Amino acid sequence: MKFYSTNNPEHVVSLKEAVIKGLAPDQGLYMPEHIPLMPAEFFQELPFMSFQEMGVEVIRALFKDDLTEDQIKQLVEHTLSFDTPLVQVEDGIYTLELFHGPTLAFKDVGARFCSKLMSMLMTDESRLVRVLVATSGDTGSAVANGFYKVPGVEVIILYPQGKVSKLQEKQFTTLGENIHCLEVAGVFDDCQRLVKEAFLDTELNQEMLLTSANSINIARWIPQCLYYFHAWAQLLDKEKKIAVSVPSGNFGNLGAGILAERMGLPIDIFVASTNVNKVVPEFLDSGIFDPIPSLSTISNSMDVGNPSNFYRLLDLYGNDEELLKSRVVGYYFSDEETAIAMREVKAATGYLMDPHGAVGYLGLKKFLKEKGEEFQGIFLETAHPGKFQSTVEEVLQESIQLPNRLQAFLSKEVKSSRMGNDFEEFKRYLNDAR
Ligand SMILES: *Cc1c(COP(=O)(O)O)cnc(C)c1O
Repeated sequence: MKFYSTNNPEHVVSLKEAVIKGLAPDQGLYMPEHIPLMPAEFFQELPFMSFQEMGVEVIRALFKDDLTEDQIKQLVEHTLSFDTPLVQVEDGIYTLELFHGPTLAFKDVGARFCSKLMSMLMTDESRLVRVLVATSGDTGSAVANGFYKVPGVEVIILYPQGKVSKLQEKQFTTLGENIHCLEVAGVFDDCQRLVKEAFLDTELNQEMLLTSANSINIARWIPQCLYYFHAWAQLLDKEKKIAVSVPSGNFGNLGAGILAERMGLPIDIFVASTNVNKVVPEFLDSGIFDPIPSLSTISNSMDVGNPSNFYRLLDLYGNDEELLKSRVVGYYFSDEETAIAMREVKAATGYLMDPHGAVGYLGLKKFLKEKGEEFQGIFLETAHPGKFQSTVEEVLQESIQLPNRLQAFLSKEVKSSRMGNDFEEFKRYLNDAR
């Protein structure tokens, strides 16, 4: 499979180059040159396949020219090491729980695939391979846990001192092994600047191969299509039309759902559900894409005013805006509406949604009410409510229990080095710590 840039279809690169570069040199997003259609037999067998068996079929269809059968199996086994169960919440309404991985959020899927794939593509690399990550919290934990103990790759995580919650910090600084953490005296933007300067530094790049694992990387984006197939496999009624609502920020997750649909998965409509960072729902309404500075909400992992995967959505529909609008509807919700939904669903059904999942639930309900009488619906639960303990407790006015996996991180010791926000100091660190 080759990949082209959304800014220039003539700019075509190999899988390895697309993964190492992340973003195309013209700032475009890489897209698969050809989207394979899964055969009818695949869909007949799908309900009887395990998550991993299905994963192998789909990844093979995409990457059979780039990876050996053995590599494909290893990659899928490493990635899909936890289940994504479909759980009924109300009559005809299901949630796809994506939070059973090591850091209890859906980003684990992309991060695990990315780490394993990078290590496979770098086996003939003589330089030291280093992944640099600037994080304000959640990305750090998913990437660190995805790369943990992956051979041949060192990860260096930069995070702003005092700006990351204790629980978030514990989820990446307590791992050790190939995961190195730097607590930077500064803000998130300082961390990001240090990483960017390192990528541009000729001297450093001769000594080591520096790469990033940010969320626009195809190695994080593409594997997210897998759990949409798995959702359909678990659905009992395959005759009734299907609406899938995706709580969205940067729109990678929704884009991956559309990729699955383009590969033949029978999803009839997607709902793009957001908080008040409503740039995409507004675009779907008006045809005008107008990025804004991001606004803070209780579904903070979706506080994105300029969604980086937006052009992927258009590209998946051949840049046909009307087609996109006929396949994706968008709705946005306030924090008040989100909190009410969390309380009402908990009271009526006992199901506890996190603030992000609740936005997805609201989008689905609105679609079903307005247009979807003949539909059944799935909303994605992108994180475990325990990850947002204080928000959830405030909304529900009751205490919730942290899952054991999060609790376990809390008892471990933070290992990180302090660092100023000066590039020369960071460069010295990279040179010395080899
Ligand atoms: C990252 C994230 C999102 C948004 O996903 P996108 O792919 O950026 O749209 C939603 N919910 C949670 C919990 C997240 O961490």
